[in-house]
Amino acid sequence: MAEITLTIDGKKVKGEQGDTILEVCQKNGVHIPTLCYHPALPPEGICRVCLVEVTGQRLLQPSCTFKVSEGMEVKTHSPNVVEARRFVVELILSDHPLDCMTCEMNGHCELQDLCYELGIKETRFPGVRHAYPIDDSNPFIERDYNKCVLCRRCVRACEYMNGVEAIGILWRGFETKIGTAFDIGLQDSPCEFCGMCVEVCPTGALTPIERKGQGREWEFRHVQTICPYCGMGCQLDLNIKENQIVQVQSVWDGPANHGWTCVKGRFGFDFTHHPDRLTRPLIKKDGQFVEATWDEALDLVTSRLGEIKEKHSSDAIGVLSSAKCTNEENYVVQKFARAVIGTNNVDHCARL
Ligand code: SF4
Ligand code: SF4
Ligand code: SF4
Repeated sequence: MAEITLTIDGKKVKGEQGDTILEVCQKNGVHIPTLCYHPALPPEGICRVCLVEVTGQRLLQPSCTFKVSEGMEVKTHSPNVVEARRFVVELILSDHPLDCMTCEMNGHCELQDLCYELGIKETRFPGVRHAYPIDDSNPFIERDYNKCVLCRRCVRACEYMNGVEAIGILWRGFETKIGTAFDIGLQDSPCEFCGMCVEVCPTGALTPIERKGQGREWEFRHVQTICPYCGMGCQLDLNIKENQIVQVQSVWDGPANHGWTCVKGRFGFDFTHHPDRLTRPLIKKDGQFVEATWDEALDLVTSRLGEIKEKHSSDAIGVLSSAKCTNEENYVVQKFARAVIGTNNVDHCARL
């Protein structure tokens, strides 16, 4: 890409042909507030929060979609720009419940951050507000469209990241809302509950049901880990409070999944704390499973494998491994089968 020079807020900076103004600003440490923009999604220039002044342009331009050119002059915080941003945010607030005190996303809300940055406490535009019923009819995602800012991030995530297109824009004008075809519940739509819409939503419009009432954002400890479900190796960011997983979030630079997860990785973590989870080995005695120590269990396995091998040969034994194990664990399993037991009867569920 050809390098170009432009002026941002009076300073000469470098960019590349094809960059947007926002991209050049981000590369050069110039902050422009955004709302509908998300780095993992194609920009759409919907919210108009990132408007900037470009010399020679009659109107303010959305920096997330406007491409730079040689010699361009841009003002990112002129009085006109700041006033336009405040106007846009106040219009959003005119139809927003403002119940930050009890909102699940308090402390993790981009609308809240915008109001803080722009010093907005209330809106000049009182008027009709929506009173949508809260939809918690599915087991994973609560939808409160009273808090929706119509940024379409969820729609883009569903289309471009999961490739499902379960949701889109319904109706027009003040009645515009996000929904499924015929406005049916997510559970009756093509939704796969990957949770990417929740992950990219900038407000409390979409929240994971499992997280509700489990704690405030600043109480969580973050631990990056690999999903335990399959051999894909998706990276996850666990929100943990008091040693319990409260929510799974995306790791955008995870090399295997780039932030995407399936329903199991995103919402299937409750097994970790389930009271029925096996935490000790069980040995069958008189037809009943009873708890044993690891030494007892391993001694039993060793002696039974030894008996079978002696009586029927090594090839009477087969070893099955699992895609839930790491490559290293699977390597050790096949080594155990071949070198210790002496059989090539090794198989793996990922082959099925
Ligand atoms: S979505 Fe954000 S601005 Fe709206 S109530 Fe929740 S925390 Fe407050
Ligand atoms: S959970 Fe996934 S499939 Fe369902 S609406 Fe959200 S992004 Fe689309
Ligand atoms: S539900 Fe969230 S992500 Fe979707 S349009 Fe509304 S605010 Fe944006």
